[in-house]
Amino acid sequence: MKLLLIPLLLFGVGNDFKAARQRMVGTQLEARDITDRAVLDSMATVPRHEFAGKKHLSRAYGDFPLPIGYGQTISQPYIVALMTQLLNLKGGERVLEVGTGSGYQSAVLSPIVEKVYTIEIVPELAGTARERLKRLDYGNVEVKEGDGYFGWEEKGPFDAIVVTAAASHVPPPLIAQLKEGGKMIIPVGGTFAVQTLMLVEKREGKIKQTAITGVRFVPLTGGH
Ligand code: SAH
Repeated sequence: MKLLLIPLLLFGVGNDFKAARQRMVGTQLEARDITDRAVLDSMATVPRHEFAGKKHLSRAYGDFPLPIGYGQTISQPYIVALMTQLLNLKGGERVLEVGTGSGYQSAVLSPIVEKVYTIEIVPELAGTARERLKRLDYGNVEVKEGDGYFGWEEKGPFDAIVVTAAASHVPPPLIAQLKEGGKMIIPVGGTFAVQTLMLVEKREGKIKQTAITGVRFVPLTGGH
């Protein structure tokens, strides 16, 4: 009896997560301004509950950020979707993420682009994210432990860069590692202030910055 019940229960739970994910896409993303089909499709498939940790399983698809340990958080689903959509990805890109955290943002990028490089400064988080992404078969994501302020020069230049921690300024090494025509999304501002999500574009060697909206992120730490 027990043997029969366990797979049935697991099947039920799996379906609940799928339904919760579809609700999340409808009510939190499509109902706002997320229209990029590739972003919506990816967010409808990436199992956010696998990234949120066991304690937060029932809250994994809620409209808010979630703690992932070490004082860090995964962003609210809408913010992940917005940042990904703003990169205007068409497929085939090489993308750099600074601030791997749980690996969720990388997993959302994975099916959309060719290759994701992601850097995390907290060694434990880098290790857990690397194992999790491997276990869940996100084979085109490479995780490095290090200070993402300096980017990942050997793997650059990148078509797109997404920074998921707030910096006091746009790091010059990241601008240098952005391809001509490339786009970077980065929250800029102080730790206890409201920060501004900035779109940084490199065109004909010039940098254009556009303020998108107010956000709240954990700070970009490191030696800069
Ligand atoms: N994108 C993550 C959440 C990011 S939270 C996700 O989807 O789960 C911000 C992350 O940035 C934290 O894990 C923090 O440790 C990391 N971080 C902060 N400063 C950093 C730096 N200088 N280089 C790399 N990672 C950094």
